[in-house]
Amino acid sequence: MDFRLTEEQRLVQETARDFVDREIVPHVREWEAKGEVPKAFYAKMAGLGFLGAPVPPEYGGAGMDYVSFALLIEEISRGSSSVRTTVSVQTSLSESTLMLFGSEEQKKEWLVPLAKGKRFGAWALTEPEAGSDAANLATTATLRGDEWILNGAKRFISNGSLADYVFVYAREPGTQRHEGLSCFMVPKGTPGFSVTKVETTTKLGLRASPTADLAFEDCHVLKGNLVGKRGGGWDQAMRTLNNGRLGIAAGAVGVARAALEAAVKYAQQRKAFNRPIGDFQLIREMIAESAMEIDAARLLTLRAAHMRDLGVDNTKEVSMAKLFGAQMAMRVCDRAIQVHGGYGFSGDFDVERYFRDARILGLYEGTNEIQKLIIAEKVLGPTAKK
Ligand SMILES: Cc1cc2nc3c(=O)[nH]c(=O)nc-3n(C[C@H](O)[C@H](O)[C@H](O)COP(=O)(O)OP(=O)(O)OC[C@H]3O[C@@H](n4cnc5c(N)ncnc54)[C@H](O)[C@@H]3O)c2cc1C
Repeated sequence: MDFRLTEEQRLVQETARDFVDREIVPHVREWEAKGEVPKAFYAKMAGLGFLGAPVPPEYGGAGMDYVSFALLIEEISRGSSSVRTTVSVQTSLSESTLMLFGSEEQKKEWLVPLAKGKRFGAWALTEPEAGSDAANLATTATLRGDEWILNGAKRFISNGSLADYVFVYAREPGTQRHEGLSCFMVPKGTPGFSVTKVETTTKLGLRASPTADLAFEDCHVLKGNLVGKRGGGWDQAMRTLNNGRLGIAAGAVGVARAALEAAVKYAQQRKAFNRPIGDFQLIREMIAESAMEIDAARLLTLRAAHMRDLGVDNTKEVSMAKLFGAQMAMRVCDRAIQVHGGYGFSGDFDVERYFRDARILGLYEGTNEIQKLIIAEKVLGPTAKK
């Protein structure tokens, strides 16, 4: 087993680190306050191939392996969890959908502009009555002639108001649970498709990431906008989420690293009782625990990414990396605030934002509880009653 990064992986990491320090860190507070990230910033990111990182070059992407992708997402998350969310949804969910299930024609038409960052994607599974229980989704898709007609509502969709292409999960009328689900690409501006609510600065965290509710009222899309197999939507969604969760696991490492770096800097500068607080053993313990936990989360993440590169099933390992990462990030960000004392609570220091942003990691793309169910099923086998 070789834990060293390849030359190429190190280059991705260094390029991303430098980009984040120059293009994200100086602006992130302003973006969070305004509730948006300027499109001009994403154009710069696209120039480096980051918006199509894992997409093969023949479809306009950077062709990175998943270990490089995880390192890239870690760096982006160190700068901004909002930007990381947009990039994750663009790459791990939207582009993944096309890479895994899209036809050649769909890849040429939609994947190329997504990978080049000329278009944005969103991925819509969750509904008001279907979150963890996604198989309860009620949005319908009815085939009439050459068109599918969509009716229903989606909740909490990241990039929902930004996206040019929304990948929407819907079921054929009369079907239930895991049956009859399919994925449809709905372009922005399609009559009957509207963004009903956009949450930005009122959220606990991710304040520069547009989270939107979507509505479909007799929304007609062409037959050719079905992505993947008719009725195969459940398996498609689960396989896509496997890629998405890898991005979140890497994101957890990034935000936690930012919190630890801030805590270390503060511990070296702040004095109490005539000494830097970093001299106190109780502070040193917090730093040591955080450093260890971040490393453990990164190793879990890179193992899951490596398995993805090998093409072996990594469902359990991805869920472990996401679950451990989400829990770890909360602990590390909490300690970082503790090291900052009252200043950590004040909003004048970034640790306050890291703490708020870390909270989403255990909620979206499967809560911590859902990851535990997935892991337990892999370890113990399915429960008697499904
Ligand atoms: C900022 C943000 C961005 C998001 N982006 C997207 C997006 O881009 N696309 C998308 O489709 N969705 C998105 N979501 C939705 C997100 O994935 C869901 O909120 C999440 O899956 C949880 O669903 P829920 O909110 O309905 O909670 P619920 O499913 O109602 O869960 C409530 C609680 O019950 C627990 N619970 C539920 N079932 C079980 C069980 N069987 N055993 C034990 N505990 C259980 C949960 O773990 C949780 O603690 C986003 C959400 C947020 C907040």
